[in-house]
Amino acid sequence: NEQQPLLQLQDAHVAYGAIMAVKGIDLVLHHGELVSLIGANGAGKTTTLNTIAGLLPLTQGRLHYEGAAIERLPTHQRLRQGIALVPEGRGIFTRLTVEENLRMGAYARRDAAAAIEADMERVFTMLPRVKERLHQVAGTLSGGEQQMVAIGRALLSRPRLLLLDEPSMGLAPLVVEKIFEVIRSVAAEGVTILLVEQNATLALEFSQRAYVMESGRITLTGSGQALLADPKVRSAYLGEL
Ligand code: ATP
Repeated sequence: NEQQPLLQLQDAHVAYGAIMAVKGIDLVLHHGELVSLIGANGAGKTTTLNTIAGLLPLTQGRLHYEGAAIERLPTHQRLRQGIALVPEGRGIFTRLTVEENLRMGAYARRDAAAAIEADMERVFTMLPRVKERLHQVAGTLSGGEQQMVAIGRALLSRPRLLLLDEPSMGLAPLVVEKIFEVIRSVAAEGVTILLVEQNATLALEFSQRAYVMESGRITLTGSGQALLADPKVRSAYLGEL
């Protein structure tokens, strides 16, 4: 059903012990959208992504995916249903080869080996650099190459929803551009994307819609263009006075 949202988070609260990091947020992702989540350090962006992926439990609120409540599903079952996370810091296995890292992404799949090989080829077409480095130990790759492996690994799970946590972190501007081209081509294949990004200008220019988070709450939402033009956003997040 393409009418209902792909994902819907309602009144979501998430706590670390006594610290309430996410304080009642509502967030909707429609099929095929590219949406970003911006905000200062500590606003709760990573916590929100990790909660959607199933790494953290909701302390209150609802999470629906494809119309079904999934708040009790463990991470691997969410992955099997198409929710893949590329974590902050990439989380690649540095002692394994690039190929082994990619194949880890397919571990939860139950479809035929041929389908996985076809997806390996798809990833090679999208990420030619990754193909060139297939037998290299992942820990010896550059930061940009590691980010591409992390994205490639997520694609091997056949995601319908890709959660990207700060893919530009620590990368030079030209490398960031390459990573964002890759994200754009993933979106062009119809994968819904929720992107957490420190670089607010880049994120807003790149996304159809965005949410602004502040101290665990969503304070603004709108199209990327509208938020880029919003004076509050310009002064707080785009470095303007
Ligand atoms: P950043 O860009 O710095 O990652 P963020 O917006 O992703 O920021 P979160 O990492 O989600 O923010 O953190 C939200 C709040 O929760 C912060 O106040 C943070 O200190 C707190 N927090 C995060 N992880 C933990 C943890 N494991 N234990 C306790 N508090 C935590």
